[in-house]
Amino acid sequence: MNALVKQHLIDPEICIRCHACEEACPKDAILHNDDNVVVDAAICDGEMSCIGPCPTGAIDNWLMVASPHSLEAQLEWMELPEAAAPAEITPVEKPITEAPASVAPVATKKKRAPKSPPPASASEPVVNMHSPGRPVEVTVQGNYKLTGDGAEAEIHHIVLSMEGVDYPVLEGQHVGISPPGKNEKGRSYPQRRYTISSPRDGERAGKGNISLTVRRIPDGLASNYICDLKRGDKVKLSGPYGDSFLMPNDPKARLIMICTGTGAAPFRAFTMRHQRVMPDVQGALHLFFGARSPDQLPYFGPLGKVPESFLAKHFAFSRVDGQPKQYVQDKLRQDAATIAPMFGDENTYIYICGLKAMEDDVVKVLGEISASVGQDWDTLRDEMTAQGRFHVETY
Ligand SMILES: Cc1cc2nc3c(=O)[nH]c(=O)nc-3n(C[C@H](O)[C@H](O)[C@H](O)COP(=O)(O)OP(=O)(O)OC[C@H]3O[C@@H](n4cnc5c(N)ncnc54)[C@H](O)[C@@H]3O)c2cc1C
Repeated sequence: MNALVKQHLIDPEICIRCHACEEACPKDAILHNDDNVVVDAAICDGEMSCIGPCPTGAIDNWLMVASPHSLEAQLEWMELPEAAAPAEITPVEKPITEAPASVAPVATKKKRAPKSPPPASASEPVVNMHSPGRPVEVTVQGNYKLTGDGAEAEIHHIVLSMEGVDYPVLEGQHVGISPPGKNEKGRSYPQRRYTISSPRDGERAGKGNISLTVRRIPDGLASNYICDLKRGDKVKLSGPYGDSFLMPNDPKARLIMICTGTGAAPFRAFTMRHQRVMPDVQGALHLFFGARSPDQLPYFGPLGKVPESFLAKHFAFSRVDGQPKQYVQDKLRQDAATIAPMFGDENTYIYICGLKAMEDDVVKVLGEISASVGQDWDTLRDEMTAQGRFHVETY
C-alpha cells in the first residue's frame, strides 16, 4: 500500500482572503487567484509562521492524502476534500506542479506581528461551530442607522434574534455572513466577518440576541445586504470566530481600547460586559475613538451617558467646523499623560480595532508614550503580545 502524506491546505469555506498567511510565509509557498488562497505543497515545509496571523483558523488544515492535491485543483475548490484512509505519515518531498500562470504573484511582503494568545483570564471561546456550508438561520430583530443623514460613513446597528439556535459568543468574537447569490462562476460569495457588538448574555441580557455594527461600503456586497435587512428577515450565520481578541475576566485589568468607525463594536461589548458584571470597578476602561464628527461616531449618544469614572472617553474628530483636525493617534498623543502610567503595568491590556489605515500611526504613538516612561516599545509590545495583552484587529 502507498504511504500517505500530510498536506497543508487552506479551508476555502472559512478563509476570508485577507492574505495574512501569504505575508507571513517565509518560503512564499502561499498563492492566490480571484477565488482561493492555496498552499504549494512543493514549497511548504510545515514551517508554521502562517498559522498565527490567520484570523479564522482556515490555514490550520492538514490532510492525509495519497498524493498531494495540485495547485490547480486547490484554486478551484469550494470546500476541502475528504482525507484518505489513515496510514503511515511521511513528509511531502517531491514538487507537485509549477504554479499555474493564473496564480497572482505574491506582492511585497510586510511582516505582521505574531498573533497574541487570549488574555490568561479570558473565558474559553467556542469557535467554528457552524461552517459557511452549514450556517444557522437567525431572524433580524432590528436595523437602526447610527450615523447622521449625509454622513460620509453610514453605519448600522443590527440586532439578531438567536432564539432556538446554539451559537455561544464572547465579547470580541465575530460572525460570518455570506451575501446571498452566486458569482459569475456559480460559486457562493466568500463570507465576510462582522464583530459582535453586544455582550455574551445578549444585546438585552437574557433575551438571546446579538448585535452587529456594520458600515455600508459603496458597492460592497455583504455590507449593503446587511444594511438593507428588515425586521423579520432571515440571515445565515457561520461561526462564531475569534479566539484571541477577547477581554480579560479580571477586575484588576485596565483596558486601553483604540478604534475608528465600526472598530467600536468589540469595545461596546467589552464596556457592556463590564457594566453588567463589574459595575463598581472604576477607572478600568479607556476608550480612544476617532470619527469625522460626533454624528459620524457610532454610539456617540449612549457613550456620552456612561460615567467618565467608569469609561474614560477620548474622542477625536477630524471634520468639525472651526476646530483643528484631530485623528485618533493625535488624541492618544494629547492625552498621553493619562495612560502613560499604565505602560509597564502587568494589568494593562491594549486593543486596537478598525480600519487598517490607522494601525501604523496608532502603534507609532504607543511607541512614543512607552518611550516617555522609559519603556522600550519593541520589548514591551513583544512581552504584552506574548502575555495576551496586546491585540490588533484591523480590516
Ligand atoms: C475580523 C474582521 C471583523 C470585521 N468586523 C467588521 C464589523 O464589525 N463591521 C463592519 O462593517 N465590517 C467589519 N469587517 C469588514 C467586513 O468583513 C467586510 O470586509 C466589509 O463589510 C466589506 O464587505 P463587502 O462585501 O460589503 O464589500 P466587498 O464587496 O468585499 O468590496 C467592495 C469594494 O469595497 C472595498 N472595500 C472593502 N472593504 C472596505 C472597507 N472596510 N473600507 C473601504 N472600502 C472597502 C473593496 O476593495 C471593494 O472595492 C470585519 C472584517 C474582519 C476581517
